Amino acid sequence: MNIRFEQAETLKEKPQGALGFGKKFTDYMFVMDWKEGKGWHDERIVPYAPMIIDPAAMVLHYAQETFEGLKAYRGKNGEVYLFRPDMNAKRFEKSNERMCMPSVPEEMFVEAIKELVKVEEAWIPTGEGESLYIRPFMYANEVALGVDQADNYRFIIVLSPVGAYYPEGVNPIKIYVEDELTRATVGGTGFVKCGGNYAGSLAGQMKAKKLGYTQVLWLDGVHRKYVEEVGSMNVMFLIDDVVVTAPIEGTVLAGVTRDSILQLVKDWGYKVEERHLEIYELMKAGKEGRLQEAWGTGTAAVISPIGELFYKGEKVEVNEFKTGELTQKLYDTLTGIQWGDVEDEHNWRV
Ligand code: PMP
Repeated sequence: MNIRFEQAETLKEKPQGALGFGKKFTDYMFVMDWKEGKGWHDERIVPYAPMIIDPAAMVLHYAQETFEGLKAYRGKNGEVYLFRPDMNAKRFEKSNERMCMPSVPEEMFVEAIKELVKVEEAWIPTGEGESLYIRPFMYANEVALGVDQADNYRFIIVLSPVGAYYPEGVNPIKIYVEDELTRATVGGTGFVKCGGNYAGSLAGQMKAKKLGYTQVLWLDGVHRKYVEEVGSMNVMFLIDDVVVTAPIEGTVLAGVTRDSILQLVKDWGYKVEERHLEIYELMKAGKEGRLQEAWGTGTAAVISPIGELFYKGEKVEVNEFKTGELTQKLYDTLTGIQWGDVEDEHNWRV
């Protein structure tokens, strides 16, 4: 890839104090364009700035848009790490295929991230739990209103320094189990990281918030019975010493954190079941004291312990609303690998 670099006239002040999530952006972004017959071209790292978009750009009407999310970490030795970026590249490929969008080859995706992160290395925050969030995305920018696959796309990567998800340490969250709205069905786009999925999930998220819950747990779209995933996390349960999570069958996003956590618990000798778990079975296990721990997994929070489940007016408390032993060990181990403090047996750090 031949990446052109355009120098910014002035550089921004690096942020001071709490960073939050996805609110501050670095000085540069990576951009490249795709055109039918020409393929990817004009790869460039240019100053981060608002863009002009035609009001009839297809993405604004029919939402042909995909994205990814990963982080760069600064180790204590000063080294910069990415965590399994090949997994994001592969998932992006699957998303683009489903949305009839052009492929970004894995090497190109990873190289673009590496080059941009190298330019913006000074933006990787070094406070406890802080990292540089990487947001690659692609959208249809052909100017046309016919519903069709576009013949023009733009791929961009922006970077955002982000704070520790839990500044006061890992804390349990309350989960609202949505029994009416659904997020995905087999044959649909549940496994795709496309903006439309998230727009469609907001109504559930708002319901949960109103009732004082942090996140929504989605049930399957056909029976509204089987546990799928939580907001922007996959979800796992320790029931009778077995780790149970939804299978990857087209409705759930194949989380990079999910895959890594399942590997770790298998390494530690736990039995893992990737299966359909009925909400009734889960609530029953909770009431009988057999639901030992529950947690969500995702790039942003790494691990979110679940302290309470609310389903159709019934509440189940998990582990007395305390972070479980396994949940804490998983958090410590995975963040340890990501920041370079724990041996990386599976070669996940790049
Ligand atoms: N499910 C959904 C719907 C998500 O948006 C995310 C965040 N990408 C996840 C699960 C977790 O995926 P990952 O571990 O790759 O961040």
